Amino acid sequence: MQSEDLEFASEWSATALQLMAAHGIPPSPENYSIWFRYVSGKLPELNKEIDACIESGHTIDIEVTAALQDRFFSDGKLADVTLSTGAKLNTEVNQILKIIEETVGNSTALGTTVREASEGLTNQSTPNDVRRAVEAIVTASRKMEDRSVELEEHLQATKKELDELQQNLEKAHTEARTDGLTGVNNRKAFDEALARAMAAASTSNAPLCLAIGDIDHFKKFNDTFGHRTGDQVLRLVANCLKTGALEQHFVARYGGEEFAVIMPATDIATAEAISNKIRETVQARELVKRSTGESLGRVTMSMGIALLRDTDSAASLIERADGCLYDAKHAGRNRIITECHGLEMSHAKAS
Ligand code: GH3
Ligand code: MG
Ligand code: MG
Repeated sequence: MQSEDLEFASEWSATALQLMAAHGIPPSPENYSIWFRYVSGKLPELNKEIDACIESGHTIDIEVTAALQDRFFSDGKLADVTLSTGAKLNTEVNQILKIIEETVGNSTALGTTVREASEGLTNQSTPNDVRRAVEAIVTASRKMEDRSVELEEHLQATKKELDELQQNLEKAHTEARTDGLTGVNNRKAFDEALARAMAAASTSNAPLCLAIGDIDHFKKFNDTFGHRTGDQVLRLVANCLKTGALEQHFVARYGGEEFAVIMPATDIATAEAISNKIRETVQARELVKRSTGESLGRVTMSMGIALLRDTDSAASLIERADGCLYDAKHAGRNRIITECHGLEMSHAKAS
């Protein structure tokens, strides 16, 4: 919560509880967090949904609450909120530190002025008690300086803690978007990156291709050599994709044994050439079981590539890439199929 919001917190809290009582909503922590935010007005989309629900005469029951909880306060969203909160807090602390530095500077100047004044007073043969009074002011101003220094140290420590918090949040943010097995981006990261790439493509007018690849007959491989060896193959394929993709490309594990590459500023011929190289690299790797030296043969993969159209949504682009992948599987696997304005090109099996 932002500091300026704190003064309203108790007011929001009371209103939230009143509203909950009025709508007959049990005061569980989940319900409370939804209604507190509703009253704060910080999530306009949440308010829209709740208002629509009330207007249509719907009760905000457990199911509606669970759905709202899921949409607005899922881990990912909270992580995003916390991340930006962390960044904001940090900026605020930096600003406070600046003010404190200035204050400390001023109070030092004040100390000097008061000291000089006290010297002046004694030179004018002012009675002793006045001199003592002035000295007391000097002491007070020194104490003020000490307190400012203390405060600055305290704030420095707080800033350090916030820096660490920020780092932890960034780490959590990255981990939440990384596939644990292969180390490439996960599906969540893919969805976000595709939305970003599509928005960028629509403003730049540069071609954007999406390639979806799937390991051929992987079930059989797992059945023959075991799931753990299958996992090694997934890592190997992920590495081939990462190595083969261009700098601006975004490689992700799309699903179980499916991978996707978002290819900004890449025309379909280039996307096809790059994907084909990746396919050849995968096929060329002879797999050997480390523990026994046993040869596991080779794996191959098929890929489908679609080119973004003006009318596309993320779902329609993925669907066309998936369609091409399906065609590649049906045309015999270990090949790339691209959509090229109705013209389909394919790379037949190399061996
Ligand atoms: P196709 O060529 O048509 O793609 O055949 P396939 O056998 O690869 O496809 P299918 O969809 O029948 O099987 C996919 C297999 O992928 C089944 C599952 O065991 C395997 N798989 C999915 N995720 C993982 C994983 O994380 N580790 C391992 N080892 N295998 C996985
Ligand atoms: Mg599959
Ligand atoms: Mg497969």
